Amino acid sequence: MKKNMFLMLAVVLTIAIASCKKSVNDPASAPKVETTDQAKKVYNYIIGLGFPAHTIVENKNEFIVEEDIIFPKNMQVPGAAGTEQYYTGSLVSPTNVTNIRLYIDPSMTSMASEINSAISQWNSISGCTIHWSVVSSGTYDVLIMDYNLGSGVCGQGTFPSGGTAGNLIRINKAYIAGNSFAQRARTICHEMGHNVSFRHTNWAARGETPAGIDVPGVPGTDASSIMNGGQCGSGATVLSAKDIQAAIALYH
Ligand SMILES: [Zn+2]
Repeated sequence: MKKNMFLMLAVVLTIAIASCKKSVNDPASAPKVETTDQAKKVYNYIIGLGFPAHTIVENKNEFIVEEDIIFPKNMQVPGAAGTEQYYTGSLVSPTNVTNIRLYIDPSMTSMASEINSAISQWNSISGCTIHWSVVSSGTYDVLIMDYNLGSGVCGQGTFPSGGTAGNLIRINKAYIAGNSFAQRARTICHEMGHNVSFRHTNWAARGETPAGIDVPGVPGTDASSIMNGGQCGSGATVLSAKDIQAAIALYH
């Protein structure tokens, strides 16, 4: 039952300025930032997805929702609103999902083993087309880097847009350094899940809105899901049976 473990995406327009309720992000950008037309499009897109304005934190180059989801201000915003696009707009395209190139920033090379462990979890799902690969030069799709997210947030991922995986994963390396290897890898594996469109499986219990959209055939909650949020250092360390079913349902 992974009630709504994942995603959504759509579009709608509105305008407003995000209130900075949780200041766990980008301490350098606490001051008011200038919101450009492109940033407004992204902001409106987030609102269109159903996230209440008060849950959106604005930083210099991105908006943060639910503490660990990044919406870059320069992201490609899907076209028109509509229930059809709602879903497909959030997925990585069939072509792109088979080779998601991950570049490990030098700041994260010390956790390369954890990263590879997380990659192998996603890549070893039988019947699923998700495939991550590490690249050390040239073009990449996703950057994983160390980032000081303060206390309480282990990492941040980015939802896909335009058919490509979310392009950034931040790991609060110093904060998770004291966790076990399995928990450090879990944080990375969890954020990678966001980058291929997974929402928090426990979004309802956490009071997150909008409601996650059920992955076809895999509804309900799942205490064993690696995609449960708010479990830094204590959550599941391997993809659950339902996580695997859901990944296959979305990408096969
Ligand atoms: Zn998360």
